[in-house]
Amino acid sequence: MKQTFEPELFPDETSNDAGMNDTDESADKTYDFEPLFEKLATSDFRRKFSLKRVDREYIISKGMDTIRHHAEDFVRKRLAPAVIPNDGKQTPMRGHPVFIAQHATACCCRGCFAKWHHIPAGRELTTAEQRYAVAVLMEWIRRQMPR
Ligand SMILES: [Zn+2]
Repeated sequence: MKQTFEPELFPDETSNDAGMNDTDESADKTYDFEPLFEKLATSDFRRKFSLKRVDREYIISKGMDTIRHHAEDFVRKRLAPAVIPNDGKQTPMRGHPVFIAQHATACCCRGCFAKWHHIPAGRELTTAEQRYAVAVLMEWIRRQMPR
């Protein structure tokens, strides 16, 4: 562990494991998702995705915090890079509830992400953009869970 203080050149870059707890509060409170979710609901393709019982049970057994970490991981590794050789095909249609959420919310690939969320492809996503994608995914999952 680093003991010495270093000024932060990139204060936003705290989304690696160590700093994650600090960002929970700010993770989704500033977003108004209503317009996005209303628009997604008009897409026959997007709205056909839903969580199955097995997905909900998985989420309950893992807990939302763990699911959020999975979402952060998937976004960082599979959506954020500037170049994704198999973009458009990198997100399976099943196997993890976050994958389903990615298709349902158009966070599945950079093509869809650009079209629906107006964040251009071809460059690495910023930390704030990754946080936004995770917030979208978690909001969709939350809406799929029983109250
Ligand atoms: Zn896509």
